[in-house]
Amino acid sequence: MIKSSNLEIIENASLKNLNTYKLESVAKYLVKVLNIEGLKELLEYIKKENLNYFILGNGSNVILDDYLDGILIKLDGLNNLTIKDNIVTCGAAVKMSTLTCETISKNLTGLEWAINIPGTVGGSIVGNAGAYNSEIFDNLISIKVIDKDCNIKELKKEDIPHAYRHTSLKNKEYIVIEATFKLTKGNKEDSLTLIKDRTKRRKKTQPIDMPSAGSVFRNPQNDHAGRLIEEAGLKGKKIGGAEISPKHANFIVNTGTATSKDIKNLIKLVQEVIKEKYNIDLILEQEIIEWK
Ligand SMILES: Cc1cc2nc3c(=O)[nH]c(=O)nc-3n(C[C@H](O)[C@H](O)[C@H](O)COP(=O)(O)OP(=O)(O)OC[C@H]3O[C@@H](n4cnc5c(N)ncnc54)[C@H](O)[C@@H]3O)c2cc1C
Repeated sequence: MIKSSNLEIIENASLKNLNTYKLESVAKYLVKVLNIEGLKELLEYIKKENLNYFILGNGSNVILDDYLDGILIKLDGLNNLTIKDNIVTCGAAVKMSTLTCETISKNLTGLEWAINIPGTVGGSIVGNAGAYNSEIFDNLISIKVIDKDCNIKELKKEDIPHAYRHTSLKNKEYIVIEATFKLTKGNKEDSLTLIKDRTKRRKKTQPIDMPSAGSVFRNPQNDHAGRLIEEAGLKGKKIGGAEISPKHANFIVNTGTATSKDIKNLIKLVQEVIKEKYNIDLILEQEIIEWK
């Protein structure tokens, strides 16, 4: 395995505290990248050795297999954040909640919707995260990416095909290293009132006290996945330690002993029931990570 002062490497690393489902997953190697030089060194090594790798943000949109025979990369060192007037530039590892708080404190508005999204900026851009009819691409200007050959380039928002909870970046051609947003002048007090109100509403309607990875399925056009699943009588349905949340039917929660297999089987069951009852194909919003 590569050795470098720009990297922190852990062999046979538990990922339990690095995924919001709290699944007991082990990576052959977990590598924390401390700076961009480290990422380049690592990518060169991966290419030379032809290894499996995966970028893990905050693990809040993934279902990790029990054992991942390769390298899980955390971009922890890419956590710079600068605000100049209404232009915000930040590293991919910055948490969405940090970005929201920092911008609100500078009286900038536009990212209030993201306060409760437990993901990183990188992961949120790749999945075009959003809430309350807003999404991360609304305020995005450009991103900096690195490819497998260590070329760094800038992509403007217009150059990145994106749609509801989807972007072309999901094809894994690039790793997002930095993002630039344009916000508008706002008022700190108004923003704080808005996020307090929304946080209260989330607590009431979502099982945020249980390990999950947020919405399981994308909403089908003109409908809600949660409504369909509830109407089909699946709320509270359990397989092993995985349960369709009795609070919100588009959430699967880990009741304590869930494995990735339990969650995948529950997803399959929901998709089959909804197809049979309504002839609708529910599309998975979460990502299954397994290397066979
Ligand atoms: C309680 C709860 C509530 C949630 N509410 C919402 C919500 O309202 N709206 C919403 O959209 N989502 C929501 N989510 C889902 C999740 O938080 C978001 O999808 C978030 O943007 C994922 O970011 P992450 O850093 O955790 O990504 P991860 O889950 O770590 O990764 C997701 C994907 O992005 C890739 N990736 C991560 N970082 C990079 C990078 N730097 N470069 C390239 N690829 C990268 C990964 O390889 C993976 O393919 C919720 C989740 C939870 C647990």
